[in-house]
Amino acid sequence: MGRIVGIDLGTTNSVVAVLEGGRPQVIASAEGGRTTPSVVGFSREQELLVGQLARRQLVLNPRNTFANLKRFVGRSWDELDEGSLSVPYTVRCNDAGNVRVVCPATEREYAPEELVASILRKLVDDAGTYLGEPVEAAVITVPAYFNDAQRQVTRDAGRLAGIRVERILNEPTAAALAYGFDRSVVKRVLVFDLGGGTFDVSVLRIANGVFDVKATSGDTQLGGNDWDRRIVDWLADAFQADHGMDLRRDRQALQRLTEAAEKAKQELSGVQSTPISLPFIATGGDGPLHIETTLERRRFEGLCPDLLDRLLRPVQRALRDSGFAAEDIDDVVLVGGSTRMPMVQEMVRTLVPLEPCQSVNPDEVVAIGAAVQAGILTGELRDLMLNDVTPLSLGLETIGGVMKVLIPRNTPIPVRKSDLFSTSEANQSSVEVQVLQGERSMASDNKSLGRFRLSGIPPAPRGVPQVQVSFDIDANGLLQVSATDRTTGRQQSVTIQGGSNLSEEDIAVLIAEAEQKATEDRRKRADIDRRNRAQTLVAQAERRLRDAALEVGPYGAERQQRAVELALRDVQDLIAEEARGSVDLAELELAVSQLQEALYGLNRRLLSERKADQGPLQGLKNTLGSLKDELFSDDEWDDWDRPSSDPWSTGSRRYTPPPYSAPRPLEPSGYQGSGSDRERPRGVVSRREPPPRRGWDEGDPWAER
Ligand code: ADP
Ligand code: MG
Repeated sequence: MGRIVGIDLGTTNSVVAVLEGGRPQVIASAEGGRTTPSVVGFSREQELLVGQLARRQLVLNPRNTFANLKRFVGRSWDELDEGSLSVPYTVRCNDAGNVRVVCPATEREYAPEELVASILRKLVDDAGTYLGEPVEAAVITVPAYFNDAQRQVTRDAGRLAGIRVERILNEPTAAALAYGFDRSVVKRVLVFDLGGGTFDVSVLRIANGVFDVKATSGDTQLGGNDWDRRIVDWLADAFQADHGMDLRRDRQALQRLTEAAEKAKQELSGVQSTPISLPFIATGGDGPLHIETTLERRRFEGLCPDLLDRLLRPVQRALRDSGFAAEDIDDVVLVGGSTRMPMVQEMVRTLVPLEPCQSVNPDEVVAIGAAVQAGILTGELRDLMLNDVTPLSLGLETIGGVMKVLIPRNTPIPVRKSDLFSTSEANQSSVEVQVLQGERSMASDNKSLGRFRLSGIPPAPRGVPQVQVSFDIDANGLLQVSATDRTTGRQQSVTIQGGSNLSEEDIAVLIAEAEQKATEDRRKRADIDRRNRAQTLVAQAERRLRDAALEVGPYGAERQQRAVELALRDVQDLIAEEARGSVDLAELELAVSQLQEALYGLNRRLLSERKADQGPLQGLKNTLGSLKDELFSDDEWDDWDRPSSDPWSTGSRRYTPPPYSAPRPLEPSGYQGSGSDRERPRGVVSRREPPPRRGWDEGDPWAER
């Protein structure tokens, strides 16, 4: 099995990690961050931007920049609350009742998972660059409280990103793995994960490498964003009261408010009060309007009591379902950026009377756990076992719209359960099976995962036919349902698809499109690279010509100088033509290689000149060198002679300075010997040997090119 990376696909931030030599490592993004903002955008030129680059254009291009997409994953339009819908970009409901994200820049609508797929793609690409080999498989984490539809869609996003999703892993379980994979302990642990958009709590028993999840609970629509929104509303309401203008209706203002709110929120985790300043937030009758205010922690906490209340029940329920009392818990692991809020930490302390564990990094622990799970799957990590549970009860709709539970919540997975059902009317020839997930007793209050029909049941009085319905949940928490008519043996099996946004055909089309686009993108990037290389080379050639003229005079190396000039002009012409869009890049490439060759020739020529006779410039250097030698220490002056200070040698290759060589006896230099006295700077008198020369003489920085 090849390399499998672990991916924490967060609402706000995503992280990718990999096992290296048995230790999980977080992989930095191409931009250098250890976390990648889960933001996707399109520039005005329709270029796809992911992560930090997309995040940067959130304010300036709010319609084409999409954050918090995870809130839409696997959810139908009807399930979205007002909070999820108040985003600065446009979301709409398509004919099938699914959420679509509208992007004016590309004039297209996207299923949320398509955009999420580009985040996955970027993480995997960054990991591939780091590892030096393409990454084809991943363990992806999801909130433990994600239902089947949300898990299915996450897996679809992985497929759209072109990777094999080896496992869907629950985030708190991943956190527990990271916390306990290298300790031989017996502990009961409560993981409390409050991120940007979701909340999970899990209770586990960890005993010498065996991780038993006892219970899990949560709220997939509660996270740090909700706290931000309270501050946004507080600011916007005050502004409206003063100026009669609702800033939330202006996308750009809303985005600026949101950013300022998040910043204030984060600052209030450390200080008691923070200023909020939003100059030129709107224009009123009398000119520009600004927000200048201060938010105290006390006041902020007063804005969110109900949000804190929503944290209570899942914790209590998870504890109850686990069979542990709060006092039985040995450690509380806090995960997710939002657990840095003092009010949240206080709340946790009132529920479990312990100081939370400080040994894990709340931002990285989930990805680390995913990498550990990947290690378990590849066999790299042994003696670890993970027993997870299904977060929500699964069942069927029966007569009277009642949900009949087949698999209760917190049942260990994988699991298979079946039950017998019958017809409700005489001679009923088919039954419809509606699959439900949730904790409410009425079917309509729960999430419908989909429905299917078993037909061809032979005529019989009501209650006589026996239909056996089986539910299979695999280790990913994904459900498969089948129904068999026991008299005929007729079987129907379905993969639940009801809640998923995209059909199998849609996905196939998108994958094909993505492959084609990937080729196109690669070509575009190669073109840009070629152009950039040409421009860099032009600049270098110009500098080189100037240096050569200084060193050997305008005609000192005439043939080589001319060759460079000619090749340079060719490249410059082609770049200019290319900008007008009328050039074949292959032609440019050819000209570039000719210029390279010409430069190579010039450099060799200059070098041999220099070796034969150190030129006047060298004489000047030597003179200055000896003068300086009296004033400064050797080290400070080193750069003068180092090839690395030469623009030509600081190209893309890394330059390794040649080893220090002991001072050598004085060599004849231009200054001291061979008739270059003209160049001798007036008033400078050499009283000592020139400093030992390092670099130029020993190594030939160009010869390797
Ligand atoms: P997710 O898993 O959803 O991507 P993260 O775990 O990265 O989320 O947490 C992101 C959330 O944490 C954001 O809402 C962010 O504002 C919040 N956050 C980060 N640092 C702090 C802090 N110091 N104080 C309060 N909230 C914070
Ligand atoms: Mg998270």
